Amino acid sequence: MGSLQINLTKSPKEKPARVAGFGTVFTDHLFVMDYTKAQGWHNGRIEPYDNINMDPAACCLHYGQGIFEGLKAYKTKEGKIQLFRARDNFERLNRSAEKLCIPQVDVEFMLEALEKLLEIEKDWVPTEQGTSLYIRPFIVATEPFLGVRPAEEYKLFIVLSPVGAYYPEGLKPVSIMVEKNYVRAVRGGLGEAKTMANYAASLLAQEEAKQKGFTQVLWLDGVERKYIEEVGTMNIFFKIKGEVITPPLTGTILPGITRDSVLKVLKKWQVPVKEYRISIEEVVDAYKKGWLEEVFGTGTAAVISPVGKLVYADVEMDIGDYTENSIARKLYDYLTGIQYGIVEDEFCWVKILD
Ligand SMILES: *Cc1c(COP(=O)(O)O)cnc(C)c1O
Repeated sequence: MGSLQINLTKSPKEKPARVAGFGTVFTDHLFVMDYTKAQGWHNGRIEPYDNINMDPAACCLHYGQGIFEGLKAYKTKEGKIQLFRARDNFERLNRSAEKLCIPQVDVEFMLEALEKLLEIEKDWVPTEQGTSLYIRPFIVATEPFLGVRPAEEYKLFIVLSPVGAYYPEGLKPVSIMVEKNYVRAVRGGLGEAKTMANYAASLLAQEEAKQKGFTQVLWLDGVERKYIEEVGTMNIFFKIKGEVITPPLTGTILPGITRDSVLKVLKKWQVPVKEYRISIEEVVDAYKKGWLEEVFGTGTAAVISPVGKLVYADVEMDIGDYTENSIARKLYDYLTGIQYGIVEDEFCWVKILD
C-alpha cells in the first residue's frame, strides 16, 4: 500500500472547552485511501478534514455497499494515549469487507496509519473522566455505476470525534423492549457484518420503541422470533442463577469485541459462562422463578450497559439494582480500568502510543 502522505491543515479548529455528547465534533484531519482495480489500495494520506467530492452515481449512494468500524483512544492520567484492541477492529473490518464484496485492507498498514493520525491529533483526545476520542474507520464504494455488481473503486476513511462520558452520572440501567414485529437480520444475511444496511433496517423499530419510552430494542431471531440476538448497538448477556449466558455467533449478530473481552474476563474470574441460543421464554421463565439476576449489553460506546427493565409483550421484568457486587459493575470497572490505564492490562489488549 506504500507510504503515507501527510498534508496538515493551515487553519486548525477551535477545540471544544468541554466535551459532551456523541459524534458531532470532528478533528482537524482524516485519513483517506483509494482503491482501484488496477492499483489496489493506494495513495493512503492524512489530510485536512473536509467535505468529500463524490459522483452522484457512486455505488454506495444507491446500493449501500459500505462498512464501518468503531473504536476509541483513551487518555491516561499521565497523559498517554491508549488504543484498546485496535487490531481486532481492523480484522473485523476485513471480515465485514468479505461479506460485502469489498477488497481486503492490510491490517498492519491501517494500524500504522491510525497511530500516525492519532499522533497528529493527540491534543484532541479529551482528558475529563470517561471521555475519549471515538475512531470511525469506514469504506464506501465510490465507482460511478448504476448497474448492480460489486464496485471496482472504493475509498477508506478514518475520522475522529471527541466524545463525552457515556455515563456522566455513573453507571445507569436502561429500559429495553423485546421487539416482536420487526427483525434485524436473518441466517445467511448480513447480521454479522458491521454494515450500514443493518442500521437502516433497525431505525423504525428503534423509533417506535423510543416513543414508548425505551432506550433500545432487543432483537429476536428473524426466523422463529424466539431466540435472543442482540440489542441495537450492543451484544447482550444474562445472568441466571449464577451463570452468565450470551447468544452464540451464528452469523446473525455482530461479533462484538467488548463481548469477546467480557467472555475472556469472566473465564479468568472463573464465573460460569456459556454461549447458548437462549429463548425469550427461558428469560421470562427465569424471571418468574426469581433467577434472573442481571442483564447487560456490551459495546464500545457504553462498555457495559446494565438493563434495569426488560419488557416482552405484557411481561415487565424489573431486574437487579446493579450494586458494587454485580458482575455488570465489576466488568465495567475492570474494562474501563484497563482502557484508562488504571488496571493492569493482563490480556495485552492495550497499545500505548508515544
Ligand atoms: C458495533 C456493534 C456492536 C458492538 O461491538 P463492539 O466491538 O463491542 O463495539 C454490537 N452490535 C452491533 C450491531 C454493532 O454494530
